[in-house]
Amino acid sequence: MATPRVLSIQSHVVRGYVGNKSATFPLQLLGFEVDAINSVQLSNHTGYKHIDGQILDEKDLDKLITSMRGNNLLHYTHLLTGYIGSPAFLSKIAEVVKELKANNPNLLYVCDPVMGDDGKMYVPQSLLPIYQETILPLADVITPNQFEMELLLGQKVESIEDAWRAIEAFHGKGCGTVLVSSSTLGAKDELIALSSKKIDGKSVRVMASIPMLDAHFTGSGDLFSALTLAWLHKTGGNTQLSLDNVIYSLQAVLKRTLNKALGKEDFKYYEASL
Ligand code: ATP
Ligand code: PLP
Ligand code: MG
Ligand code: MG
Repeated sequence: MATPRVLSIQSHVVRGYVGNKSATFPLQLLGFEVDAINSVQLSNHTGYKHIDGQILDEKDLDKLITSMRGNNLLHYTHLLTGYIGSPAFLSKIAEVVKELKANNPNLLYVCDPVMGDDGKMYVPQSLLPIYQETILPLADVITPNQFEMELLLGQKVESIEDAWRAIEAFHGKGCGTVLVSSSTLGAKDELIALSSKKIDGKSVRVMASIPMLDAHFTGSGDLFSALTLAWLHKTGGNTQLSLDNVIYSLQAVLKRTLNKALGKEDFKYYEASL
């Protein structure tokens, strides 16, 4: 099989691991060529006291794409998008998806609709309708967390049944595979991940229980979406096997991260150590 090649449009941080810093190395390890467009270049993730850097706008994205088009380089097997900070940039991505799919009708678009967590949005609210109306119908796979699932649906998700209903609504919008990276719909000490894939009109559903570590990680969602893309490719689209592999890898990375951080002052907040 030819080497799969992914265009990954996500954030870059100088210090730490979120966005493309979380996605590139694991994807390379799993056999992918990774071409990264950094939607932002920031000093660190948005949870720090100080944050500064540069944000690409839609004209900047257009320049990169135009030049690549001129060199006949817009040929990918996969597109992965994550943290996007501006509505115009996100709308431009919809054009990029269409062009990449025209060049390769088999291209798989994995969209992590990064908008927030734990009830709080950390991107402008104006991104939400663009995700709902323009991006979801173009995405083959989406990987929201529980809060992002609620935002996209426009309703609270308070039970596993609610979650399956939300996922069916995303299928109805054209998104064939949905993986909810985590939810607090289970017992107190567990996170529940859910996935559903439409096969011949039926939803094939998988649920996984993840023992909850007593810490808050940043960049874990970005590692989840990158690993999901890789394992869906390696397993021929098998969501059960993919979810198993993604969660095992994440738990190994997060446990190692936790052990490294033990004894440090800001012990409850840190980035994954890849
Ligand atoms: P973040 O919460 O970092 O903004 P996210 O909300 O997009 O990211 P999550 O769903 O929280 O992504 O995390 C992705 C994966 O990371 C989960 O599927 C789980 O495997 C792992 N994970 C994250 N936090 C924890 C935790 N506290 N304990 C155990 N596993 C975790
Ligand atoms: N990119 C940046 C710059 C961020 O600050 C964050 C979260 O704080 C993310 C991406 C998303 O990270 P996560 O993988 O935790 O959802
Ligand atoms: Mg989370
Ligand atoms: Mg996330």
